[in-house]
Amino acid sequence: MKKIFCLIFLLFLAAGFRVFPNGNSWPVDTSNPKLWLVICPEMTALTWSSNDLPANDPIYNQTVNFNQVIDSIANDFVNVPNSFIQIGNSATDGTYNTTIAAQRSINICLGSTPGASGGYATLRTESGRTVGCDIKMSATRASKLKWFVSTLTHEIGHCLGFDHSQDTTHAIMSYFHDDETNRLQIDDKMGLIYMYPENANQAKESMTFGLSCSPRN
Ligand SMILES: [Zn+2]
Repeated sequence: MKKIFCLIFLLFLAAGFRVFPNGNSWPVDTSNPKLWLVICPEMTALTWSSNDLPANDPIYNQTVNFNQVIDSIANDFVNVPNSFIQIGNSATDGTYNTTIAAQRSINICLGSTPGASGGYATLRTESGRTVGCDIKMSATRASKLKWFVSTLTHEIGHCLGFDHSQDTTHAIMSYFHDDETNRLQIDDKMGLIYMYPENANQAKESMTFGLSCSPRN
């Protein structure tokens, strides 16, 4: 009976976040937890005529400038409890320099994206290790604040090693999230804790909600 329950539970979990085959291969760990957002100059001139983010958004109803928006996206990742990953905005984080950010940078530029997609992320790897990630965002997708936030959050998720989630409503990494889902959702946060755990044993618990199928010491 226990085995059947575990099987059902694992099938349920399999419906959520998915990681790329090489998972987290950035040179990060709990003692070196930071990746950097480096923004192309043409992007920093972006402004939005209205703040169309939903009422539950951290910067709802604020008049925002470009870097406040980028900081809010970075903080969404930083604020996930039990995940060690840190995301810094190179323009506003005083500790940024190109030496410490070598092989830890996510470059973000405007550009053409394939097909109907509004954003596109490409991981750069050398000898199986991730050494960078390049995000391109279409000008159309960048034109509305809520689209900008959701697209950039989604593409940073790809840079961190996540494929599209099979969870349609609780994941910004889903193809199908609605227009009012702009920030990390519960499925994304579980993925971050799994891939970048502050405590590896804790991550094991998170994946199965404490219902491990194998005996633990
Ligand atoms: Zn995607």
